[in-house]
Amino acid sequence: MAENPLESLANGLKLLQTLRAQVNSFSELVFKGPANVEDDSEFKFLFEEESEEDFMSELRKNLSESSQIVTEFEKIVCSLPASSLPTNPGPTSLLGIDPLLDKTPIPQQAIPTYKWLSKMHDEASLMANLSSSNLVRRNPLTSLVPSKKPKKGNVIGYQVLPSGLENLISQLAGYFQDLSITVVKVNGPQINPCILEVGVTQVMKALLLMRGYVIENVSVKAANESFKVSESAKLDFNYLSKHEVFRKISQHAKCAIVSYQSSSLSPDICLRQMLFWFQSYKSLFTSPCSKCNKILVDFLPPTMRDLRIYEPLHVFCSKI
Ligand SMILES: [Zn+2]
Repeated sequence: MAENPLESLANGLKLLQTLRAQVNSFSELVFKGPANVEDDSEFKFLFEEESEEDFMSELRKNLSESSQIVTEFEKIVCSLPASSLPTNPGPTSLLGIDPLLDKTPIPQQAIPTYKWLSKMHDEASLMANLSSSNLVRRNPLTSLVPSKKPKKGNVIGYQVLPSGLENLISQLAGYFQDLSITVVKVNGPQINPCILEVGVTQVMKALLLMRGYVIENVSVKAANESFKVSESAKLDFNYLSKHEVFRKISQHAKCAIVSYQSSSLSPDICLRQMLFWFQSYKSLFTSPCSKCNKILVDFLPPTMRDLRIYEPLHVFCSKI
């Protein structure tokens, strides 16, 4: 009778279960042995012989049943179709691979990792605190430190009405007594973008490219220099001063703009801060350095200014 292979397998498994139970009962029989005879009469040996015979017959019966089961099981195994393909155990074969857990130094590695992570967390918290209290930074890190102050509404520095910028410039011109602020160039009827020229007494002058309240470029020159290559040329932010002192101030001004504008200050406040910063250069050639207390170092006056208190500094002294 040709059976379905799956049915044959199921029958084979059932036979195995039966065989297992049979072997168990055989083991129990052997363990118990022949039944004890509770008789002290002279015919005791007769009862003992009878008991042993019963025991042996039961063993034979058990063994013959087991033998039958094994025979049937072998028949089923022979009836199964032989597989020519190699057996693919799939991912279960990985179970046999020794993961060598005992040899992997996980605890030894975990302790230094925990210490390193803890140290990194402490230093990151310290860095976030320092960055939040320091204005001189390139990237705003306010997201790292939760602010308790309510956030101000976003000021869109680029989109400013011409009247708004004109009003602001006129206010600033009246406020900064040592600065002369003039609008140099207006493209058509719009004031956005525009170029401001900021004169710092008789010392120097700066050209600011404004888009709304946002300063996009800056160039610094001596008071008697021009921002044009020739009279007919256009204003050129890349046409540098012939004096090294103003070329350096020009670089510092660009850094100051980046620092102020990358802080959480609104663009109009940044413009005011920059004007305060420019105003501090009125004593460029007279104020000594706040660190070395000298005016000239390497034939240059203190070309740097602190971004908060506007103290004069030499480039060399700022690195100490
Ligand atoms: Zn100095």
